[in-house]
Amino acid sequence: MSRPVRFNIHPTESKISESISMTEAPEGYAGEGFFSARLSDVVGLARKNSLWPLPFATSCCGIEFMATMASHYDLGRFGAERVGFSPRQCDLLMVMGTISKKMGPVVRQVYLQMAEPRWVIAMGACASSGGIFDTYSVLQGIDQVIPVDVYIPGCPPRPEAVLDGFMKIQDLVGQESIRRRNSEQYKALMNSYGIE
Ligand code: SF4
Repeated sequence: MSRPVRFNIHPTESKISESISMTEAPEGYAGEGFFSARLSDVVGLARKNSLWPLPFATSCCGIEFMATMASHYDLGRFGAERVGFSPRQCDLLMVMGTISKKMGPVVRQVYLQMAEPRWVIAMGACASSGGIFDTYSVLQGIDQVIPVDVYIPGCPPRPEAVLDGFMKIQDLVGQESIRRRNSEQYKALMNSYGIE
């Protein structure tokens, strides 16, 4: 016997325009047939709503990230459903899990293979500080090898916390000047990590 196909026989009427939230336009001047705004704001708007995460998951926090990507929480609502495993095509490195000292150079290598502009989230206590593993073999925070933009606390953080951290990084990305990556301060930050 074939399996019955079920249909929703009581569909609710809904207006698509009411169920889609639109991104607000950046500050600017609008007139008849034109809109002018700062280039940084427009670029920031595009970047923050199209982040491509690279999940570097080594342990339990990675499972929580899977829940964040799944339909209930759905990171895709923030424009970040395109998760990639090629560093050259991603701009947001999400490190989640315990990173051993042996793994440190690998995290750094992945970071270096990403093109600028790139951002980093340390998800969970382990990636942020070593967590409960205060041992000889565990890196006490990935910021010892690469610069981190947002830390998400928790062991593990719930998907709500991951979404909150993601929105924080969206704010940073949206407000970043397009000149920041060429600034002396940014070069000094990179140099402090031995990155040219
Ligand atoms: S922070 Fe907790 S849940 Fe996340 S990787 Fe470490 S031990 Fe696992």
